[in-house]
Amino acid sequence: MAQSHKIHSGRVRIVELPVAEVHSHGSGDVGSIKTVIVELTTDTGLTGWGEASPWPVFTGTAEGNANALSHYFIPAIIGADPFDVDVLLEQAEKTVVRYPEAKAALETALLDIMGKVLGIPIHDLLGGCHRDRVRLSFSLANPDFEEDIAKAERLHDDGVGIFKLKTGFKDHAFDLMRLQRLRDKFQDRLDLRIDFNQGMTAHEALPRLRDFESFRLSFIEQPVPRDNLEAMAHFTDVLTTPIMADESVFNSREAFIGARMRIADIFSLKIMKSGGLRRASRLERCGHRQVGGYRCLWRLHV
Ligand SMILES: [Mg+2]
Repeated sequence: MAQSHKIHSGRVRIVELPVAEVHSHGSGDVGSIKTVIVELTTDTGLTGWGEASPWPVFTGTAEGNANALSHYFIPAIIGADPFDVDVLLEQAEKTVVRYPEAKAALETALLDIMGKVLGIPIHDLLGGCHRDRVRLSFSLANPDFEEDIAKAERLHDDGVGIFKLKTGFKDHAFDLMRLQRLRDKFQDRLDLRIDFNQGMTAHEALPRLRDFESFRLSFIEQPVPRDNLEAMAHFTDVLTTPIMADESVFNSREAFIGARMRIADIFSLKIMKSGGLRRASRLERCGHRQVGGYRCLWRLHV
């Protein structure tokens, strides 16, 4: 690498995107999506792009992440070498706590510049390309289930075979009715899973979760609030359907405790929760070490 490159400037934009239909979840409705776009430019004219995609009830706000980037993270890297990505993200960690989405956006923009300098895709900076396509999982979260089942039929005809039902935003009978209708219609041609997004209290959860055992679900995701690790561990212990932890695990400390307590069979890893692609990958390795011979799986969700 003959030429050196320094970060010259950065811009932050908040983009609000309308959604085609309101999605309901155990933690509230989503009617539009706000995302933060970061653009870093080097003194040699290269541009690196990154995105922070927070969800206010889950991780944080777009405005908070945009401010963290504009006022703290970007000013701190002006004049820096984009290849110092580890050093710069460590500095960001020491400068402002939390805001993992802003740190993920910063990392992506730096990796984008590195890839452009070297003329290689980002996956070559991360250990290689493991797969070049993934199966689409579509979330069904429309309070009007007749619309949802018609959509599931169309998508299934188009080749979508995984559906995640968002549960816990109406009553239990509504959730059971939807699963029954989907199984009646598609039998075992669908991979079905459900996600409560923390929508139940621990004392009401167990009898309801037992009702789902006969639907051959691939997993039940985050039935109770993130801090109730004891309830998550109990469900994992007594239910046959695998339990997935999502909101309960953001960072390596939570992964360590979660794996030790066996709060789930499957942990959902997301680059927005863990603060970047490389951190999510480290979390996965940490998890594998901690769980040893247990049946715990780790799945990367972007
Ligand atoms: Mg989830």
